[in-house]
This record gives sequence, structure tokens and C-alpha cells, in this order.
Amino acid sequence: MILEVQPRDAAGRETLAGAALVAADGAASLIRAELGLALEGPQDLSHIVNCYFRADIERYIGDRKGVLFFVSNEGAQGVLQPLDGAGRWLCQISRHARRMVARRLHQGTRANWVRAAVGVADLTRTSSPSGSGSSTPRSSKRLVQGRVVMCGDAAHQFPPTGGLGVNTGLQGMHNAMWKLAYCVQGKAGWPLLETYQTERRGVSQQITMQSLQNSMNVVRINAAAVAGAESGLTAAEAVATARRYGNHLGVEFGAVYASSAVIADGTRPPPVEDSYSDYVQSATPGCRAPHVWLGRPDAELSTLDLLGPAFTLLTAARGGAWGAAAAEVARDLGIHIDTYTIGAAGLDDHGVSRGPMASPTMARCSCVRTGTSRGGALRVRSTVPH
Ligand SMILES: Cc1cc2nc3c(=O)[nH]c(=O)nc-3n(C[C@H](O)[C@H](O)[C@H](O)COP(=O)(O)OP(=O)(O)OC[C@H]3O[C@@H](n4cnc5c(N)ncnc54)[C@H](O)[C@@H]3O)c2cc1C
Repeated sequence: MILEVQPRDAAGRETLAGAALVAADGAASLIRAELGLALEGPQDLSHIVNCYFRADIERYIGDRKGVLFFVSNEGAQGVLQPLDGAGRWLCQISRHARRMVARRLHQGTRANWVRAAVGVADLTRTSSPSGSGSSTPRSSKRLVQGRVVMCGDAAHQFPPTGGLGVNTGLQGMHNAMWKLAYCVQGKAGWPLLETYQTERRGVSQQITMQSLQNSMNVVRINAAAVAGAESGLTAAEAVATARRYGNHLGVEFGAVYASSAVIADGTRPPPVEDSYSDYVQSATPGCRAPHVWLGRPDAELSTLDLLGPAFTLLTAARGGAWGAAAAEVARDLGIHIDTYTIGAAGLDDHGVSRGPMASPTMARCSCVRTGTSRGGALRVRSTVPH
């Protein structure tokens, strides 16, 4: 792939050549626009205006410490965010998309918003330039287009509610980059990279919609704060909704990948009540590798600590033949495989009676090969390497 680029801070053009282009240029991705890739999802629902400013708000906070202060009253709806505990603040002003035609808020409107949010009519503040962004969940139709790999906000956008943008971006980047590295190093063909699209697109779409749900929950809680009992939200519902907001283990760890890079074994991960908040470990291929404590009681380490940038083979004590087979495969394919025998010195299994490795399915395994860095790939039941 050959690219002609123009540095922002220099005249002239440069020509770059490479195996692929990673588009990680954010929500307004120029590369996505150049490729004509559509974003799928609801149309503009709302906008967030971000304003950095200085004001002595800390003196009104007292012991109500926090990293995000959700505000809802007649004059202000959005979030106040302390940045240094000493007068630097960020506020996120919620605006309906219809009211954001110009995408900028007048300085006086911003000042009034902050005063209403803090509840101090003569609060003085000095402001920095503001920016605004869509708070509508959308994702790109394709994550791999020709030799271009879409990552982060260029591939999917979220309302800020729930703090899911970076998590999802990092997970996608992790999924794509080890595959891209294998392709670039000639250790795998391009179809491996295509599985980034197969594995991540549905997952990221689902998370964007969860994020929208968060955003709607915040609106409901705000309505409850302003209108009290008239909002139709009971106190119990408001608490349950608020709890769910920052509690997203299921989103962080619970993705199950299905693609030609994952060899299914017919098992399914255990069902969970709420796929947003709940995560139950599973050794089903395509799941995040399970955590089990290993080592000595005074020097514990997790199975996850064993998973580095290479492929990893975990075998039971009687699975020694797998180690030999892995060494042969690594030699033939020119790849690196780390091999560990559970039960070997320093790798005693403390999780047998309590972790997913102890599940009936897992107990039958003599070998677990994980993908790189925790992404599950293949679990083999046979004790005979082949
Ligand atoms: C108010 C707000 C609060 C948020 N809070 C959270 C949170 O608590 N937790 C969370 O996980 N997420 C949060 N997010 C989302 C999170 O910020 C984004 O998901 C994340 O920053 C996306 O990272 P990215 O690297 O894909 O894109 P960006 O962070 O947007 O980075 C893209 C980079 O590409 C550069 N770039 C773009 N075009 C060009 C070009 N043509 N040439 C050269 N460089 C270019 C940009 O300058 C930028 O540095 C929040 C977002 C907002 C707006």
C-alpha cells in the first residue's frame, strides 16, 4: 500500500509504503470518509458540548467527593468533572441534536450553565475553548476494507455515558493488531485479519447500544431528579439503574468470539442474567481465557499472568506430548509458543475446586492453547497431539 501524506505542521508531501493502514483517527475519521464507509445506527440523537474552565467549585463540594457530578435541574443538565481538585474543571453540557445546529454554544450560555449547575449565581469562571461531539451510538459497516483496518472511534462511536469508548477501542485494537502483525511478518494470511471484522463488529455494535441504554437511563434519572415522583421512576429503579451504570464486567470480559480463527468444541459459555454487568468465566473456545490461581500459597500467580504476546500452551501434567508437538509446530511455522505445565514447580493448581478450569469439560482437557494475550482461541480435549 502506498500513501501520499501531508504533515500538518510542514509543507510538502511524503510518500509512505506499508502492508496496511490502521485508521485510528477518531470519531470524525478522514480515512473512513475517504473510503466512503457508512456509520450504522440511529441518526443524531443528542450532542455533548465539552468546556474546560477554572472556577472555585471545590469549596461548595464539601465531603461530596466524586469524579463525575451528574447535574440535573431546570437550568443545567449534564456532568461536572473535577480535573485537579484545585479549580480546573470540565463540564459536559447535554444538548438535543436539534438545538445544536451551529454545534457551538455561546460563551454566555456556557457561563450560565455552569452557574446553574453549581447553584451559585455569581460564580466567576475563566474558560478555555470548547468542543462538541455527537453522542449517538454508531458503528462502521466494515472494520477491514481492503488493506485498511478501522479501530477505536473511527470504527465505532458512543455516548460518553458508561465510559465504554476506550475499553471497546482497546479491545478491538488488541484483537486486530496481533493478527496484523502475523500477516505483516508473513506468518499468517490476510483471512486471519478479516476475522477481526467477524469477531469484533457484532460485539462493538452491542456495546454501542448498551451505551445508548445508559444514556437513556441517565435521562430518566435526571427526569426523576427534576420532576420527582412524576417521572414514573421509583427510587429502587433509579438506584438499580445507577448501579448498572459503572458496573460493566460483562462488557469488559464477556465477549465470545466466533470466527474461522476459533475452533468451536460444541460447548457454550454459561448464561448470565445481565450480559452488561455479569461475567462468568468459561473455557469455551472464543471466550477470554479463564483465571485460575496457580503457584504456591505465598507466591500466587494467575493463569492470565502466563499469557504474553505469543501463543500460549497450558497442559496438564500428563500432557507432556503437547509440549513436544507445540515445539515442532512453532519450528515449522516460525512462530513462538510459550508452554506451561500446570502442576509443575511454582504452577500448582489452587483453582481446581473453585474455578472454570474445574468444570467437567475442562477437567477432560489435557491441553489449552490460548490466543495471544488472553484472547481464547482453541481448547483441545484429546490427550493425543495431532
Ligand atoms: C466527553 C467525553 C467523555 C468520555 N469519557 C470516556 C470515559 O470515561 N471512558 C471511556 O472509555 N471513554 C470515554 N470517552 C470516549 C473516548 O474518549 C473515546 O472513545 C476515545 O478517545 C477514542 O480513542 P481513539 O484513539 O479512537 O480516538 P481519539 O482519542 O479521537 O484520537 C484520534 C487522534 O487522531 C488524530 N487525528 C485525527 N485526524 C487526523 C489527521 N487527519 N491527521 C493526523 N491526526 C489526526 C486526532 O488529533 C487524535 O489525536 C469519552 C468521550 C467524550 C467526548
